[in-house]
Amino acid sequence: NERHIATPTRTKELLKKYDFSFKKSLGQNFLIDTNILRNIIHHAGVTENTGAIEIGPGMGALTEQLAIAADKVLAFEIDQRLLPILEDTLSPYDNVKVVNEDILKADVQQEMQQYFGDQKIKIVANLPYYITTPILMNLLTRNLPISSITVMIQKEVADRMAAAPNTKSYGSLSLAIQYYTEAAVVMTVPKTAFMPQPNVDSAVLHLELRKEPPVHVEDEKFFFDLIQASFGQRRKTLRNNLNRQFASRFSKEELEDIMSAAGIDGTRRGESLTMAEFASLANTFTARG
Ligand code: SAM
Repeated sequence: NERHIATPTRTKELLKKYDFSFKKSLGQNFLIDTNILRNIIHHAGVTENTGAIEIGPGMGALTEQLAIAADKVLAFEIDQRLLPILEDTLSPYDNVKVVNEDILKADVQQEMQQYFGDQKIKIVANLPYYITTPILMNLLTRNLPISSITVMIQKEVADRMAAAPNTKSYGSLSLAIQYYTEAAVVMTVPKTAFMPQPNVDSAVLHLELRKEPPVHVEDEKFFFDLIQASFGQRRKTLRNNLNRQFASRFSKEELEDIMSAAGIDGTRRGESLTMAEFASLANTFTARG
């Protein structure tokens, strides 16, 4: 166990051996607690039949535990300086492939097809916090053959992604994530599990991909525009926010008409509307052109 990458001793050794300096701009906070990694992998539901994708392997702390638990691992790392280190640390494992690419630019679908064939895949990662939302939205909207995503992210963002209506964390991000997945925060992780320690608290978010969206929406782009508009100013009523955002397209009377046809009281706040209510409101708009 002491020889595992995710320990303070081994991590310090590697930093020294390769004269590696952390890049804050790449969100480099490496995990140094093997038990936490095993826990993440357990929550992800990884078994010896699982094909796993990792984003940002760093020095291989999580990659190693995935190599042990999963069938095969495909990892995307943007920082070229880490490649020789990964080659060294992962040399005991023959079921890992590292790709030196930005996850937002890589042809993930093509890489997956090549490496895994038709296997269903789980994504497991300790994400770079500065681009958590772009990475997750990018993966979710690309229609990749994945069954779940389990990621360490900033706790505050994890709470927003998994939030229910009428809570302070609920907003357009909750609805965007939950349109594609069933979301749950499965564990919180102390700062001491990282090197260097991040400034924010961390949590693990588990996203189980839906086969179908939970609501029927005629025009997805408008649905998400409407949600954005409804949360425009959190303290204002739905009526106020919609009047402000849609003034050029709909009169006050038309907006009242649409809300009442959708059965939604304009004095409510955006944060009280469920996804089903947003869908019904959006579809009523769409039907009125
Ligand atoms: N998995 C390692 C661990 O847990 O110790 C490192 C996690 S660290 C929080 C995030 C990693 O993502 C870093 O290795 C960083 O270089 C990498 N990274 C940052 N932006 C990336 C991007 N756009 N595409 C791929 N990797 C990225």
